[in-house]
Amino acid sequence: MKYEAVIGLEVHTQLRTRSKMYCRCSTDYVNAPPNTHVCPVCLGMPGVLPVINKQAVEYTMMAALALNCTIAEYTKFDRKNYSYPDLMKGYQISQYDTPIGRSGRLTIQVDGQEKKVGITRVHLEEDVAKLVHRTAVGESCSLVDVNRSGVPLMEIVGEPDLHFPEEARQYLMKLHSILQYLDVSTASMEDGSFRCDANVSIRPEGSSELLAKVEVKNMNSFRAVFRALEYEVKRQTRAIETGEKVVQETRGWVEENGETVSQRSKEFAHDYRYFPEPDLLPLNITRTWVAETGAKLPELPEARRDRFVTEYGLSLYDANLLTSSKEMADYFENLCQDNKTILAKTVSNWLLGTVSAILNTNNIDMSEFADQVSTERVAELLLTESQGVVSTATAKSILEEMYKTGKSSSEIIAVQGLTQISDTGELEKIAAQVIQANVPAVADYKAGKAQSLTFLVGQVMRVTHGRANPRVVTEVLKKKLEEEGEE
Ligand code: ZN
Ligand code: MN
Repeated sequence: MKYEAVIGLEVHTQLRTRSKMYCRCSTDYVNAPPNTHVCPVCLGMPGVLPVINKQAVEYTMMAALALNCTIAEYTKFDRKNYSYPDLMKGYQISQYDTPIGRSGRLTIQVDGQEKKVGITRVHLEEDVAKLVHRTAVGESCSLVDVNRSGVPLMEIVGEPDLHFPEEARQYLMKLHSILQYLDVSTASMEDGSFRCDANVSIRPEGSSELLAKVEVKNMNSFRAVFRALEYEVKRQTRAIETGEKVVQETRGWVEENGETVSQRSKEFAHDYRYFPEPDLLPLNITRTWVAETGAKLPELPEARRDRFVTEYGLSLYDANLLTSSKEMADYFENLCQDNKTILAKTVSNWLLGTVSAILNTNNIDMSEFADQVSTERVAELLLTESQGVVSTATAKSILEEMYKTGKSSSEIIAVQGLTQISDTGELEKIAAQVIQANVPAVADYKAGKAQSLTFLVGQVMRVTHGRANPRVVTEVLKKKLEEEGEE
């Protein structure tokens, strides 16, 4: 029998407001000493009164609108009761039956196919405190840092419309990109301001049967989500095939071991005893406010992708890659602006090729690269390359050097003597050496094997450390080989 996976994702993302959700404490706590961004409200003292952060409501509305949700006219906050040491009040002020947004959708691309994924709800709540577990012998204890508690947290619940780990990864990347464009969250997976939980179950293909749902937590990157889901689908399939029972539970992803481990059983559903938060008034969201907020939405990734196709003549594929990161797309447009003589397609190839490789090797994001290398400087380099002053291969290594040293291309070229060799006389000397040193390849060429010429050109490039002009090298080599044949 074949099985299919049913996957639904829940994302919690901190909103980029200046103050917390229900008090005036600053949200800028990342480098602050523990428990310095606190007040009686977020410490959960008795008798205090929370106040709704208007900006957080508006940011949530922006996200909900961008996800094609319907915005509630009447909404309220509810108490979600549970006791855990990271929750100061013993309850979280969240939203139960009147989320700000509901019934939306998100479009993803998988293998060139479009797929619409339902968005169940988008609601607003507050983050919890951070627990630090000390395990050293003699000081084994847990510490509580309340700085994070009360930071506005938006929860986005997706429909279980996903069937493959790759679809889940695309969904998350798309959602992340939209939040980046909206600028409502720093949405950093590393810092924990963008966190994902996944619900996974499997069932016989084509059936609508509901089997035990497993919740997976603790995934800190898109790759981790993909790997954890892949692992879970295999584990559950194997369990069913061997007659074992898949139990409803919460499991944590352990990156180092590449596996999920059981954290707690969910046999007894939590009873959160939700009830309307008596300390806050319900909220009426006027249609005027919705319209005003809708008018504030920036150009979103899909619209920008389509514009890149029509305005710059890029392929849909390249436009999609460039616009998935707002910073990459901004950099592209600035670079095209800085030098109008360079083709947009060339700029796109540089960003998706060499620049992306630099980001990967150094494990940095586009903003870090942009801080070190300005678009003006890259435009200067591309111009130098297009004029034939340096070869393409050299230009690539110059760009790496520019990132590492913060120097301009002209400085690097001057110091390292990297200008392209187009001088026929000099190249003739090198070509002669290469011909002498590669007798078998020369024989192959003469026997009609055209690829041997490519090989010989490569050898000249190697000797000159990529500085030779490949076009001139090819001409020089051809001429020399012909002359040899005549002797
Ligand atoms: Zn506070
Ligand atoms: Mn939540």
